[in-house]
Amino acid sequence: MTFNQPAINGIFSPPPPTREAGLARLAAFIPQAGRAYAVGRNTDPGPGAPSAVSGLSPYLRHRLLRETEVISAVIARHGAGGAEKFIQEVFWRIYWKGWLELRPALWTSYRQRLAALREDAALMLRAEQAMRGETGIGCFDAWARELAQTGTLHNHTRMWFASIWCFTLKLPWLLGADFFFQHLLDADAASNLLSWRWVAGCQTPNKPYIARAANIAHYTNGRFAPYGVLNEAPEPVAEPNPPAMQTLPAIDDLPRGKLALLLHEDDLGAGGLALSGMNIVALGGLALAAARAFGPVSEQAAGWTRAALAGSLSQASRAYGLAAPVLAPDALAAWARDAGAEAVITPYAPVGWTADALRAAEAKLHGAGLRLHRLRRAFDARCWPLARRGFFDFKAHIPALLKEVP
Ligand SMILES: Cc1cc2nc3c(=O)[nH]c(=O)nc-3n(C[C@H](O)[C@H](O)[C@H](O)COP(=O)(O)OP(=O)(O)OC[C@H]3O[C@@H](n4cnc5c(N)ncnc54)[C@H](O)[C@@H]3O)c2cc1C
Repeated sequence: MTFNQPAINGIFSPPPPTREAGLARLAAFIPQAGRAYAVGRNTDPGPGAPSAVSGLSPYLRHRLLRETEVISAVIARHGAGGAEKFIQEVFWRIYWKGWLELRPALWTSYRQRLAALREDAALMLRAEQAMRGETGIGCFDAWARELAQTGTLHNHTRMWFASIWCFTLKLPWLLGADFFFQHLLDADAASNLLSWRWVAGCQTPNKPYIARAANIAHYTNGRFAPYGVLNEAPEPVAEPNPPAMQTLPAIDDLPRGKLALLLHEDDLGAGGLALSGMNIVALGGLALAAARAFGPVSEQAAGWTRAALAGSLSQASRAYGLAAPVLAPDALAAWARDAGAEAVITPYAPVGWTADALRAAEAKLHGAGLRLHRLRRAFDARCWPLARRGFFDFKAHIPALLKEVP
């Protein structure tokens, strides 16, 4: 697979999956992160057309760029007030991560319920027709194809798409979330799952997000105008209550001695993790490209993540002078033991498929006498426990949190 700057004129190439490309994109975006972003961010001018949004999400989601460095960079240019809207959007990501982190059982129940829905053959026929873009609703069908082709959709379009999926097509939001997991380059357990719940009206109870034809016509610059086609007076989707909130799992003291460092797709920037002085004797990467969805993961999305992991591994390999193999979860114990490691350290994986795989691998590591130690970033540990209620409540903490951005 080749990666170039995105230019959708017939053929789309995803953005290059490297930190350098993310930094270049950030530098190019910074001048527009103030008023231009606030004014233009809701407009989707169509694939390939210049847009007011940053396109940074695949980099942020895989932590090739850190939220804190993106926030610092826009503040340096615009001040916190001048870039308020953009900063707030980055904090939506942090908020969703924290909200799910405090309620991990929601992820487990989503996966169980999704597996059960997929047993319903008639339902799957309807859902797959929608995924192929064969519903007869012009905008929706175009967006389904755009997502499969490009691995992304504009935020406003994701909202319209999810709303039409739930309320006009009357399909379960869980199948729609799985469709997004199959294709998005920025597929993220918390942002995707909770945004679908938000649209369906079960995240903020009884407040479904309603896609309206007039709003679509306005913010697509008239490319679509689905008047008379959409259900604009829906009932919110009935859902079980979210699970009780829990506290963040504690992190043990750092192990000493010989350590094996494991990278994974949830945090590919080892920078900022305070690894200097540690005795790293083995390096490896966890390969999980297909684990994110129940349906088939697109080669484009899987390939992006694989290439991002490979790039980070080869940088770490040069820095530590060690080989850096890509490993399946059940190969971790032998890899660490054969290198003489006394423990495995890994960046903290928030709730999602990587955390699931690490938990499953942990028993085998313990069996080999190896502890798995997760390194949680200080800013995550500071922000996530604040995601107890709605975003409005969380937002009140942003001024104080900005003072702590490293
Ligand atoms: C149904 C649905 C599913 C979504 N699934 C995902 C997903 O899997 N992964 C994902 O990263 N985002 C998801 N989002 C949020 C949002 O659509 C994307 O983060 C955004 O479109 C990314 O484009 P950008 O980088 O140009 O954003 P910008 O507008 O430039 O924003 C900058 C950064 O802020 C964060 N951000 C912006 N808007 C949101 C938001 N509404 N929620 C959370 N973070 C936000 C992203 O990290 C983004 O890169 C979803 C939204 C909806 C409605």
